[in-house]
Amino acid sequence: MSTALLKVTDLKTYFPINNGILKKSTGFVKAVDGISFSLTKGETLGLVGESGCGKSTTGRSILRLIEPTSGSVKYKGVEVTTLKKNDLRKIRKNMQIVFQDPYASLNPRLTIGSILEEALSTHRIGNHSKERKEIVMDLLEKVGLNSKLVDRYPHEFSGGQRQRIGIARAVAVNPSIIIADEPVSALDVSIQAQILNLFQDFQDKMGLAYIFIAHDLSVVKHISDKIGVMYLGRIVEFASKDELFNHPSHPYTNALMSSVPVPNPTLKKERIILKGDVPNPASPPSGCTFHTRCHACMDICKTVQPKGIEISPGHIVACHLYN
Ligand code: SF4
Repeated sequence: MSTALLKVTDLKTYFPINNGILKKSTGFVKAVDGISFSLTKGETLGLVGESGCGKSTTGRSILRLIEPTSGSVKYKGVEVTTLKKNDLRKIRKNMQIVFQDPYASLNPRLTIGSILEEALSTHRIGNHSKERKEIVMDLLEKVGLNSKLVDRYPHEFSGGQRQRIGIARAVAVNPSIIIADEPVSALDVSIQAQILNLFQDFQDKMGLAYIFIAHDLSVVKHISDKIGVMYLGRIVEFASKDELFNHPSHPYTNALMSSVPVPNPTLKKERIILKGDVPNPASPPSGCTFHTRCHACMDICKTVQPKGIEISPGHIVACHLYN
């Protein structure tokens, strides 16, 4: 059995709701409410759900860009949630992030060469400036950009090119894990496939593990080994990619699945339209938080929160239909 590179156990990130002139705390938004999974070298976990379901907060909490409220994040057995600043900086070299909006995450006042060199010097990679410059030129070519563009600024690149720069910055420091937070959602469909292929190439060459966050199952379909479907801060279904696509079991997964285009247009499938929007996470519905939108809702669903049940090896579903 392969050992876990990353082990996340019962991770919770709650944000206080402050009201009144005195800003008294009157409750919590449970953005992440008990997430658990593990990741091995070279493996990709897809995290999927509508916006506001807590998937980005999960990614940021793992890196402690947002401080989690409780739970455990272990990188190669080392507890990350209690690390002091210096040790956290060292461990962050191994866990990088690629953001959805590469433009917002690239300093507009720096050339792309300086942006990449800064990442290298932050983590003390390269003995001197000349060596770092050589690494930068090599990186640009590896992400499919002409190294002659090294002195250009982020605004001189297209969205797809900027995401390539974002990926170059993440892989520059030789991480083991990359958290890719909706990295293709802002890009044209034709460019999305190129960026997904680039992620795949780096995974093959460097043995990287990914947490790949997306709101669309079709995006994570090809790249993921296993998939967690999130709804209001919890994973409601978790399975290997093949198992999830062959036997989607949670009503929410079925609804998401029904919107994935099928390659053969003569095959008709019924689209399940979800009622309404994701409820306000500051006042989530009682019982199963999906009950206000679920076509299979029963009386018990309105009062009792379902626990995750393993319906086949490694396939976990949190739904009363399986209890
Ligand atoms: Fe639907 Fe009930 Fe299952 Fe929730 S527990 S998904 S409301 S059937």
